[in-house]
Amino acid sequence: MTPLETTPDGTDRRTDLEQRLDAVHSRITAATAAAGRTREPQLVVVTKFFPATDVRLLHGLGVRHVGENRDQEASAKAAELADLELDWHFIGQLQANKAKTVVRYARAVHSLDRDSLAAALGKAMRRENERRAELGDAPRAALETLIQVDLRDATDAAGNESGTARGGADPAEVGRLADQVAETDGLALRGLMAVAPLGEDPTPAFERLARIAEEVRSNHPQATWISAGMSHDLEQAVAAGATHLRVGSDVLGPRPPVL
Ligand SMILES: *Cc1c(COP(=O)(O)O)cnc(C)c1O
Repeated sequence: MTPLETTPDGTDRRTDLEQRLDAVHSRITAATAAAGRTREPQLVVVTKFFPATDVRLLHGLGVRHVGENRDQEASAKAAELADLELDWHFIGQLQANKAKTVVRYARAVHSLDRDSLAAALGKAMRRENERRAELGDAPRAALETLIQVDLRDATDAAGNESGTARGGADPAEVGRLADQVAETDGLALRGLMAVAPLGEDPTPAFERLARIAEEVRSNHPQATWISAGMSHDLEQAVAAGATHLRVGSDVLGPRPPVL
């Protein structure tokens, strides 16, 4: 047994994950009811920095949607777990030269933030389907694509730029990027993603995201996903209409230090 299969207090890893997962599901159920919503958002369990053995245990506990933010780590885990039915969500900053590998395993990319990445992903999808055709395999489904929005309030009352950058496109660019994704073969525009700005109340930030999402839907009615909310702010995200929650540490525990 590797050290990660037992927790410091000796409970086994499966029980640990089960208890944490149950607690997160209870929070989502309560937040959904409190918001007067009928359908619970989809939980995407963010497994970055944790081993494939944990993802396998989570699959055994019913998890089917997992999130990763680094291509190298994600592609290794997806390969190791190819026997399981899992939907991989890529949620991190993506370099164009990684597009080719990401489209091999990812069902969704939440973090499209620029034109050049849409073009790279479209090209990668074309190549991937050519590769599959050569192997006699069916083409893959369109890549579910979300545009990541930078939710920093551009300037504060004093006119200073607020918050710390957490990635994403400027809100003013989102409409144009949405058009571009919608026009790119192989990509399916699904909606928007954001991370709440650090040191700011997440509620107004998530409300801004919901308004931008509504604008996008007026031109692209299929763009219904709002990916928002993490361990510490999932309740606020549910209240603001999130359809997908990306929860890592509250399911898996504190992340191991980066090596
Ligand atoms: C790591 C990460 C998460 C999960 O964060 P937790 O606080 O561990 O729940 C969600 N979204 C993104 C983009 C991440 O990088």
